[in-house]
Amino acid sequence: MNKNTKNMFVWFILGLVVVVTIYQIINRGDQVYEMPTSDFHSYISEKYIKDNGNPFEGYLILDDEWVEGKFREEFVAINKQEQSVENPIFPQNWNGNFKTSRDTSEDYGLQEKLNTQGIIFNIKPGSNFPDWLLVIGTTVVPLLIFLGLMIFLSRQMQGSGNRALSFGKSKARLHTETDKPVTFDDVAGVDEAKDALEEVIQFLKAPSKFERLGGTIPKGVLLVGPPGTGKTMLAKAVAGEADVPFFSISGSDFVEMFVGVGASRVRDLFETGKKNAPCIIFIDELDAVGRHRGAGIGGGHDEREQTLNALLVQMQGFEDSETVIMIAATNRPDVLDPALLRPGRFDRQIIVDLPDVRGRKAILDVHTKEPYKLAEDVNLEIMAKATPGFSGADLKNMANEAALLAAREDKEHIDMECFDEAKDRVLMGPERRSLVISDEERRVTAYHEAGHALISHFVPESDPNYKCTIVPRGRALGVTALLPDEERHNPNRKKLIADIIVFLGGRVAEETIFGEQTTGAQNDFERATRLARHMVTQWGMSPLGPLTYGRRDEQIFLGKELAVHQDYSEQTAIAIDKAVHDIVMECYENAKEIIETNLDGLKHLADALLERETLITEEIEEILGPRPQLPTNPLT
Ligand code: ADP
Ligand code: ZN
Repeated sequence: MNKNTKNMFVWFILGLVVVVTIYQIINRGDQVYEMPTSDFHSYISEKYIKDNGNPFEGYLILDDEWVEGKFREEFVAINKQEQSVENPIFPQNWNGNFKTSRDTSEDYGLQEKLNTQGIIFNIKPGSNFPDWLLVIGTTVVPLLIFLGLMIFLSRQMQGSGNRALSFGKSKARLHTETDKPVTFDDVAGVDEAKDALEEVIQFLKAPSKFERLGGTIPKGVLLVGPPGTGKTMLAKAVAGEADVPFFSISGSDFVEMFVGVGASRVRDLFETGKKNAPCIIFIDELDAVGRHRGAGIGGGHDEREQTLNALLVQMQGFEDSETVIMIAATNRPDVLDPALLRPGRFDRQIIVDLPDVRGRKAILDVHTKEPYKLAEDVNLEIMAKATPGFSGADLKNMANEAALLAAREDKEHIDMECFDEAKDRVLMGPERRSLVISDEERRVTAYHEAGHALISHFVPESDPNYKCTIVPRGRALGVTALLPDEERHNPNRKKLIADIIVFLGGRVAEETIFGEQTTGAQNDFERATRLARHMVTQWGMSPLGPLTYGRRDEQIFLGKELAVHQDYSEQTAIAIDKAVHDIVMECYENAKEIIETNLDGLKHLADALLERETLITEEIEEILGPRPQLPTNPLT
């Protein structure tokens, strides 16, 4: 039996059970006392038969074969009470219905008798439904309807594109030759990941070579990293380089509301994989299905656990000879069920981190190739420097946005201005020139941004200014952007202090000029405090000494702390708070000093901002003079 007919059979049996049950429920009604006609006659004489009350409808019905009716309630009550338990005359659940056969040719004047007794009855000549018709009506007809429905559904299932009854099918998509194959050249700035995946490609190309040498064959590779860093692309590129089919499905596709669907999808996916070996199966968002079992709140996650179990079982069941490679991607490796990471499953982890400067430059190169037309002035190195924290997807987005802006402004080429604007858009959303800002507010913002720019200009350890603007964008009224030097992986205390001073420069400038405090510096404070706290608790840069305070579950590449556990006393907590406060206040005094000694410069900067709205590095240096240089370190 093939799968479809088997399915049909099961549905058929189910339908039958339903129909029979319904039939039984309908017929479970009160039981009827069937008696000889002679008894009926005497009951009439004794006035025990209930009057119909209405000649057109009711309980006393005479038809060609039967008489059906009711006894009077008093009769029923007495007889039910008095009948012997061992030898009951009337049915158990009786509530007074009776039935007796009627011979119309010889019914001893029944109708007259009823008439003389004044009992109204209802005659239904020949209306008696034969029993077998009733049976057909309640069983066969619904069955036929059911069958028809099933045939309809199975037609739908066979027809392409119809999804009735196909919940269990995996949604894996096959990427065939018609898609332009992705190669490693398309994925930039992730050289380490590529190296690690090279082996997988070799294996897919010539599995026999590996087996002969007895090498361990990778079965599952887990790509770990933030969204948009090219994990999907990498998996596709492996398939493209090895020239094998690529199946992809997202972990969230497994988690549906129907119980058992996820598990059957997993089995389906693996079947597809085995049929098409050698191939790659890619599961995006593995964490959606692979979360630690038993971690669900309220325990309502049986479905997901079943799916996860199916996945584990299927991966275990892979024969070594089957050249199917599983690649999965996640940005939450910390929540994965440990069983997923055991040998034979996703035992290889490859980190795909956010790109560094060089990576960003390489990605930009990829995404500004022909047919993009770049202007002479475009310096992608500067753009790469100015986009720390951008993912590959962000950079692609930025390049696209730059091209769109160039097109909108009817430019021949995409110039640096377009890139710059595109960067800010991706980072903070489009400019909000329409935002109504009072002159007063604009002035405050100008001094605030000028404060940042002035300090980063005069503190040699700070990153150089890149741009300073008072055009509102996203939620910010103005922005001062620096050009961080990422070659420095290990910032020293001076650099960190410089950063904090720059953060505080905005508020200090506002205060100094207007003698007022505004809410606009909240984000500055947040970042300053965060840095100071890290200096105290993580980097041993305070009187509390070279210790770390607080164990943190941190994913380095995620750049965010998941939780901090306090592993120190309350006294230490107080000391930490004080140390953090001291650092920030010291920086605050520093900022104040720099601003006060350069008040003229501040005013010039703010005026220029009010006039021109945006200042770039050269313009800032023109106003403030050349930037003081760091004394060169004699040791380097
Ligand atoms: P992930 O799977 O990690 O979320 P994707 O592979 O879906 O990221 O990346 C989304 C898009 O961003 C890709 O289609 C690609 O155009 C671009 N991209 C991301 N990372 C890179 C990279 N390293 N090199 C080139 N393009 C990239
Ligand atoms: Zn600020």
